[in-house]
Amino acid sequence: MLQSKLFTKTRKEAPKDEVSKNAELLIRGGFIHKEMAGVYSYLPLGLRVIKKIENIIREEINGLGGQEIFMSTFHPKEKWVATGRWNTMDDLYKVKDSSGREVAIGPTHEEIVVPIAREYVSSYKDLPFSLYQFQNKFRMELRAKSGILRGREFLMKDLYSFSKDEKEHNDFYEKSKIAYKKIFERAGIGSKTYITFASGGTFSKYSQEFQTLAVTGEDTIHICEKCKVAVNEEIIAEQKVCPECDNDKLQKEKAIEVGNIFNLGTKFSDAFDLVYLDEKGEKKKVIMGCYGIGIGRLMGTIVEVLSDKDGIVWPKEVAPFSIHLVELGDSAEVRAKAEDIMARLEKEGIDVLYDDREVRPGEKFADSDLLGMPYRLVISERSLKEGKVEIKERKTGEMNMVSEKELFDKVFLKKLIGP
Ligand code: ATP
Ligand code: MG
Repeated sequence: MLQSKLFTKTRKEAPKDEVSKNAELLIRGGFIHKEMAGVYSYLPLGLRVIKKIENIIREEINGLGGQEIFMSTFHPKEKWVATGRWNTMDDLYKVKDSSGREVAIGPTHEEIVVPIAREYVSSYKDLPFSLYQFQNKFRMELRAKSGILRGREFLMKDLYSFSKDEKEHNDFYEKSKIAYKKIFERAGIGSKTYITFASGGTFSKYSQEFQTLAVTGEDTIHICEKCKVAVNEEIIAEQKVCPECDNDKLQKEKAIEVGNIFNLGTKFSDAFDLVYLDEKGEKKKVIMGCYGIGIGRLMGTIVEVLSDKDGIVWPKEVAPFSIHLVELGDSAEVRAKAEDIMARLEKEGIDVLYDDREVRPGEKFADSDLLGMPYRLVISERSLKEGKVEIKERKTGEMNMVSEKELFDKVFLKKLIGP
């Protein structure tokens, strides 16, 4: 993509009404646009990140056998009355239309997914299965000062599992942990993300949160470095040692909850009478689990924990473009070479943002650091003369001059795009 055609532009000044680093950098880079507290629009660069994150998650959840659906945003009031949550969920948005009908605007989708599942479940042969979606959620969050980490409207991947019994549920639950680990590794925050024991509700002692270490995080967790697990501060009273090795020297850290997995037991099966007949013809309740990941929150977390003083540092698999190609000087030869390299990179399936703007080199470099593509390629008079291109890794700052032959070497190209 030509940067001169990108309708957004970078800004030097931080937005006055934002206090969080993620919002500041993402707005300055033109990734997102703020509409009101906790509500953001995603612009071309930001949407590319969202789509890449979605694709990682889709691949891993499909690997678990999850079937993708897309549920409604408007939820009938009756379903929320049936679970009792119409009156108990403080952050539920309720609207009344001109006919006087009241509906909820979905903050989560158990009230919708369980009645859907009930239509298709009657026998043990219909189980197990799992359903997921990427959809906007709406919640009246009291504090909405953390940019896209805590939205009032935000994109979530929500997955729901339906199992015949505890064992079948536990198998899926354990597999989901492995998939989640893979997702956060691919998103570039694996080494900073800890499986965290948190309170589990009625049906299990614990739920598991995926918490990413960040000084700006809202949560406090106590980590066991040896086991790479943690305990949420909110349950530390009950669980004072590492749940895996009994280590009592846990380290207190701030963190962001990027995802969680939860045993719902029969809570929603009871509310909607989701039952099946087992092999003996006996009626049994379906056991459910729910598994969330905040897509915007994950994107914001990546910005919070990986950016540096110059701007964002996107991990390879979620970067809007793999390469930022920067042309310096406005000679026809430089331009021709840059266009040629861009076309050849794109032919190899590599996303390129090409800075073809007529602005000062210093401005191009500053923008390139702010926007944070994993690699910057510079084509200039000098590089033409030397027959080489300059390549700089955003994360390490490491700079190399490589010949075109080296650049288009398959192994080298693969390294550029990751994983
Ligand atoms: P929190 O404790 O942070 O409010 P939650 O327990 O309400 O989170 P869930 O309802 O389980 O979260 O949602 C699943 C995932 O959705 C969370 O792990 C988080 O990644 C994301 N999420 C939750 N609330 C928000 C929000 N307001 N904005 C952005 N992402 C969110
Ligand atoms: Mg919440």
